[in-house]
Amino acid sequence: MRIRFLGTGASEGVPALFCQCEICRRAREIGGREQRTRCQAIINDEVLVDFGPDTYMHLLRYGIDITELQWCLLTHAHSDHLYVSDLEARERGFAILSPDTKPLTVFGSRGVGKYADRFGDGRVTGDGSVMFRRVAAFEPFSFGGNGTGVYTVIPAPAIHSTEEPLVYAISANGKSLLYAHDTDVLPDLTLARLRALDVRFDLVTMDCTEGKKHIDYRGHMNFERDREFADKLCAFGLAGEKTVFVANHFSHNGRVGYAEAVGIAEKIGFAVAYDGLEIEF
Ligand SMILES: [Zn+2]
Ligand SMILES: [Zn+2]
Ligand SMILES: [Zn+2]
Repeated sequence: MRIRFLGTGASEGVPALFCQCEICRRAREIGGREQRTRCQAIINDEVLVDFGPDTYMHLLRYGIDITELQWCLLTHAHSDHLYVSDLEARERGFAILSPDTKPLTVFGSRGVGKYADRFGDGRVTGDGSVMFRRVAAFEPFSFGGNGTGVYTVIPAPAIHSTEEPLVYAISANGKSLLYAHDTDVLPDLTLARLRALDVRFDLVTMDCTEGKKHIDYRGHMNFERDREFADKLCAFGLAGEKTVFVANHFSHNGRVGYAEAVGIAEKIGFAVAYDGLEIEF
């Protein structure tokens, strides 16, 4: 299984559009891994995770062709994760599609459906070239085969300030990953239910919006909570010594640039995501 981190920033990106803080100033100056576009990833070049406002830029930057893409998992409807207008560009007339091109299915909760299910019958585009499929926590679903990988996905409720946010456990070919953005540490009940569904993660990518900053609210994490979450995953048998833990979805407000983040993450056994990072596991 291979995950490519296309974007690794929180909603404003790093540097944030209008921000004059030290992190953003340095990110403009240094560039490279210090700059983070809005969070998005692709698995095996077949499954896109989230469809935010930087999708188009990611396709150009990394030379990715999504004209035949069939699956996209949407975590929640916040604007850094879902930009419906660009999905509408798949409608015939905006796009020329061959008659046998399969629809792109976007999966999401009821909260995502309020934006994505534009016609109320599952169609995102008028011609059905993009379809919304509603999924629910702890109800596994599968797709793929016929020349592509076969994927099984388990949605679970995230702890985040919007309607029915989800994290996704994604499995293919005997490997599994947990995509946990945007969320806080998941409660015991959620972890127990995942455990009951018999999944064990080889890689976990976790929200680290607040970096090294103290957090006094629920809904995102910092390095401290990432480690706490990782420990809980291990305690529940969902992760182990071989699991790769990745801190991701950084905000400039977390007060930490890439280089410093790497130092902090090493001490807690995490890797730090950057735009363009690929991990095969
Ligand atoms: Zn976000
Ligand atoms: Zn800033
Ligand atoms: Zn969010």
